[in-house]
Order: sequence, then C-alpha cells, then structure tokens
Amino acid sequence: MKKTSVNICLMGSTGSIGRQALEVVEKNSSLRIAAMSAHSNTRLFSEQLKKIKPEKACITDPAAFERYGSARTGGTKILPPGELSALCTDKKIDLVLAGSSGSSALIPIFDALSAGKTVAVANKEPIVMAGDILNAAAKKYGGRILPVDSEHSAVFQCLENSKSPPEKIYITASGGAILRAGKRKITPGFILAHPVWKMGRKITVDSSTGMNKGLEVIEAHHLFSVNFSAISVLLHPKALIHGMVEFADGSVSAYLSEPDMKIPISYALNYPQKRKMSRRCDFTAMDLRLEKYPADKFICFKLALEAGKKGGLYPSALVGANETAVNAFLDERISFPRIAEIIRKTLSETPKMRYNIPNALRVEQWAKERAEKLIK
Ligand code: NDP
Ligand code: MG
Repeated sequence: MKKTSVNICLMGSTGSIGRQALEVVEKNSSLRIAAMSAHSNTRLFSEQLKKIKPEKACITDPAAFERYGSARTGGTKILPPGELSALCTDKKIDLVLAGSSGSSALIPIFDALSAGKTVAVANKEPIVMAGDILNAAAKKYGGRILPVDSEHSAVFQCLENSKSPPEKIYITASGGAILRAGKRKITPGFILAHPVWKMGRKITVDSSTGMNKGLEVIEAHHLFSVNFSAISVLLHPKALIHGMVEFADGSVSAYLSEPDMKIPISYALNYPQKRKMSRRCDFTAMDLRLEKYPADKFICFKLALEAGKKGGLYPSALVGANETAVNAFLDERISFPRIAEIIRKTLSETPKMRYNIPNALRVEQWAKERAEKLIK
C-alpha cells in the first residue's frame, strides 16, 4: 500500500526552528507530526498539542514534566524526560527533526541513526561534539543525516547536483549585529536585534561572536567529510547566497534563496522533493556582495576553528564553555568581550579522555562548570 504521509518526530517544537517546522508541516498535507518534544515551555507546548494532536509527546525538563503531568492531552500520550530516544526510534517514525538546542539531542540523534532513521539536523552542537561517531552510526545502521542549517543545506544541494568531488566549500556569514556596533556599548538587547535572521537567543549571540560560523565550519567538516583547509567563510551581509561549491575546473555552484529557515526545513522534511513556498528572489534588487570574512573581529570563530582542528573532546569543551558564557552575557553577568576570554581559558584546560559520546557529554558538563567558576 502506498504511504500517504511522512511521520515526523519533532524535537524542540517550542523553539524558533520547531515553530517554523510546524508552520511548514501545517501547509503540507504529505507531512504529519506523529511525535514531538519540548523542554520547559509547557504553556506553548500545550497549545501546540491541542492543535496538532500527535500520538506521543515528551517533556524533557523534569520539573516541567512534573508540573504538566503524564496524562493524555486530547489523545496525546505524554512521556517523561528519559523517553525522548524511544520517541525518536518508534517504528512509526519516518523522519526525526532535531530542532532543540545545545547537546540535549545528542543521544536521541545517535539512537535514531542507530535505528536506521533519517535525521534532519538543525541542532549543530551534537554534530560538532560527535560528528565522527554519528557518521559512523549512520553508516553502520543505514541511518541518514540531512542538513537543515541553511549554509549546509545549500552546500548539500550544490553537491547533490554534481558527480565530481568538491575542491572547496564556501559558507557565508551575515556577521550578526556586531558589525554595526561602532563604539556603542554592546548589550544583549543590541546583539539580539539580528539584522537578517530571526532565531533563538543563543544562536543570535553566537552569530555576533563568530562562534556560530566556527561551529558551522566544524559541522561542514563532518557533514561533507572535507578537511578544514577546504572550507572557507565569506562575509555576505544580505544572506542570499548561503553556500557554494568550487570544482577542479574552477566552476562554482552557488545556492541562493531569501533568508528564510522554512526553505531548508521544508527541503529536509520533503526530501528529495521541493514543495511550494511563497518567498521568491528579486534578482534586480539583490545585493550579492561577498567579502573576506574579518576573522580578526571574531575571536570566537578562531577559538572554534582551533578546537575543531584539534578534534577529539575539544569541540565538546567549546560547546559547554560557550553555552555558559553566552547565558552569562544574556543575564548581564559578563561583558561581550569576556565571552571569548572565558572560552579560551576553559579550552586551555580541556581534560584528556577517550573520544566517545559519554565522555563528550562529560567534558561538555565539565566545561560548563569550569566556565561558571571563571565567571564568578
Ligand atoms: P531556541 O532557543 O529558539 O529553541 C530551543 C528549543 O530546544 C526549544 O524547543 C527548547 O524547549 C528546547 N530546549 C532547550 N533546552 C533544552 C534541553 N536542555 N533539553 C531539551 N530541549 C531543550 O533555539 P533555536 O530554534 O534557535 O535553535 C535550535 C538549534 O537549531 C540550535 O542548535 C541552533 O544552533 C540551530 N539552528 C537554529 C537556526 C534558527 O534559525 N533558529 C538556524 C540554524 C540552526 P523550551 O522552549 O520548551 O524550553
Ligand atoms: Mg547557519
């Protein structure tokens, strides 16, 4: 019997990626949310559950789960925090969309790939921390990673249309709010007003420190199995070209679209089909200027690259220290320049352990605690 819809498990339905994914699914009758998770925003989650009516849902914050209870909400079975992997690996699920933040989805992504599922990954931290392990699990058990991050979706699509290997991969950076800062005091309010993208708070700060682009270079290294020397970043303030691939003959494929995360989300959910979306490029009004990425202005970009090139557990220390430092900046406990200082110091003390998922999570937690001590 022909299957009529793709059954999706959405992790992080209450976040920026999650809410946009729900909009994409709502407009597309061949997609269906069969399961979804949120962390602590039970108010929004409850509204979403009433509207979407998935079969199962999971609340990953223990206190929020306790508050909300495990009763069925309009036919949805609510599962406790430890059940997220079970939600992703359920035999009814065709595709998992990782839209939650930080490292929380690392084990569920690993479990889903090990169950042979296709995982559309927006959530870059798990790839950064354990890309080699996730790739190996996908290869061994027939799982597949589909990129959702706009730059990686772009590169993925440029590569899909070619039979030749890439010589070089380019991802673009809009630069965040920081490039317009001048001499003003850099407050969370200023940084959170991103000129192009509307995203969650943490990734918006990461865009201004350069960390987001550094994490994305590590992500590209894993997703496309290319050396760091073959990945370049270009500054492109209008964020219309998202990624490019250069081939041996000097020809370049570029991927363009309006800066709208719903486009790469829709492509991953409908893969390999392209479904109707409303945004169109206005070519005569487009500013396609590309410039050298001013890496000297983005210290966190350099720190991320160093950690990525060292590999092993350094990227996990990077992710942990960064999350703590960014939260402290958002809470106005540290100034903007101290974010990089705290990450640098934490990274320099990264413990040496074997590279595996439990140790990646251990080192990330260690880095969060070490960074917190440096802040106090
Ligand atoms: P948001 O902060 O908007 O949303 C985060 C989501 O994750 C929420 O649903 C939140 O639940 C959930 N969450 C938070 N903490 C935990 C936890 N400890 N365990 C489980 N779930 C948790 O983030 P974004 O949507 O902006 O980003 C999500 C991921 O996608 C990030 O890795 C980011 O780098 C990546 N990304 C985002 C883009 C964007 O445009 N936003 C673009 C490209 C990549 P709750 O709110 O219920 O607490
Ligand atoms: Mg991106």
